[in-house]
Amino acid sequence: MLTVAEALVVVADCVTVCPSIEVPCQDAWGMVLAEAVASDVDSPPCDRSVVDGYAVCSADLRDGRAELTVLEELPAGRLPKHAVTRGTAVRVMTGAAIPPGADAVVMVEHGQLLEDGRVRLPQAAATAGQNILRRAAAMSRGEVVMEAGRLLRPADVGLLAEAGHSRVRVVRRPTVAVLATGSELVPAWQKPGPAQIRNSNGAMLLAAVRQAGGVAIDLGIAIDEPEALRRCIKAGLECDVLVLSGGVSAGAWDLVPGILQALGVEQRFHKVRLKPGKPLWFGTLAGPQRSRLVFGLPGNPVSSFVCFELFVRPALAALAGRPAWQRPERTGRLTAGFRHRGDRPTYHPATAVPPADAQSNEPPLHYDVTPLDWQGSADQRTLARANALAIFPAGDGTYQVGDAIPLLLLD
Ligand code: AMP
Ligand code: MG
Repeated sequence: MLTVAEALVVVADCVTVCPSIEVPCQDAWGMVLAEAVASDVDSPPCDRSVVDGYAVCSADLRDGRAELTVLEELPAGRLPKHAVTRGTAVRVMTGAAIPPGADAVVMVEHGQLLEDGRVRLPQAAATAGQNILRRAAAMSRGEVVMEAGRLLRPADVGLLAEAGHSRVRVVRRPTVAVLATGSELVPAWQKPGPAQIRNSNGAMLLAAVRQAGGVAIDLGIAIDEPEALRRCIKAGLECDVLVLSGGVSAGAWDLVPGILQALGVEQRFHKVRLKPGKPLWFGTLAGPQRSRLVFGLPGNPVSSFVCFELFVRPALAALAGRPAWQRPERTGRLTAGFRHRGDRPTYHPATAVPPADAQSNEPPLHYDVTPLDWQGSADQRTLARANALAIFPAGDGTYQVGDAIPLLLLD
């Protein structure tokens, strides 16, 4: 049986970044920029006032006072008609172009309008350059403002728009079909019968796919019947990734691996040394350009979740061209004693908080971690309370308060 680390290598070897596409920049949030972009403008486009005020010759205010003739009022977006000469000023709004001849802007609050229309600047000293943002101070035309590989945030999208990239080339989001299998399942909107349960994995996995940057496609529920399963799986194989839940254990109704292989999906591994999640199945379907990935997650919700976090999430990140391929491991210090039993490394739902003495301005070196009272791999309720998975190594062990254990932060 592969270890988690070995299985991750197998998955990583099967991933090829999705091809790039062009999208409107406002749709590029959360996607990865596929090529470096340069600005086609200077920013700002001209010397501009950063305040509402009077554009003046600073020499007029040497002694901190002046009475100046106001030549015009200039809003942002209009070019000045007049040059400022000694004894004159132009009233400029925030963002307005600095008229030729002016070398400083005095804030409007310092001005006093006189009856003859002039403005008195009683105690306003002005130094050359004051309140002026120079042309191209932020970026110059032709300058590369963003490199390929950047995961685009809203502020980046704003810069793309400013720089003239209303459409940008980004890595396409992977399409990910989610199919829950199990004859005991009913849709979440339905009240289950006595031996039925709701398909909670479907909702959870669809949400997780979206969070990981994929386009989630809901294939609903397939019953444990070969023809129904085959039909649903075939539809799912149209996507970059097919994520199944259930039907991959050793039971008589665990038909998924057999059907996948009959449909040409090559098994890369089945079963990984971890708890929960041991029955995980992974395979690929060869395609003309790139392989499609198929993850058969075990049906129990916590198993499904752990396998998604450990294997599917990083695969989706890599397909989407995102730089971080794995969630970072942190060090936790136990807040309570704990006994771990089991022959596999265990990913135990836990809460993790920065210690009370952590500096708020830097990431903590370790977290205080509390393993939750967890009823096993079907216990979705406890999973929903967790913000971390505490990783207990294989083997029986007794842990004391303060012992260090690795953890994965989930939020
Ligand atoms: P399986 O892996 O198919 O043997 O399923 C293992 C356990 O997980 C069974 O108790 C199933 O009822 C449960 N299970 C399977 N699929 C789901 C699902 N989509 N949502 C919630 N529980 C599930
Ligand atoms: Mg099942």
